[in-house]
Amino acid sequence: MAEMGEAWEEWYCFKCNEKVTEGEVQFSYLQFKKPVKGTRCPKCGAVFVSEEMGRKLRSIEEQIEDK
Ligand SMILES: [Zn+2]
Repeated sequence: MAEMGEAWEEWYCFKCNEKVTEGEVQFSYLQFKKPVKGTRCPKCGAVFVSEEMGRKLRSIEEQIEDK
């Protein structure tokens, strides 16, 4: 899986100014949980997702709300 063109290594946590690490993060919305590829701050655990992933997550939320 290397199709994402984002430069994760340039991402820093805006709270701690700590370099985020790429990995699988748990996206949860209501009772719905899904592992997605994202980045996480090793210090405070804040999760960051790319713009593209953000769009995917929003579409997932819409699908859930439709039910
Ligand atoms: Zn942080």
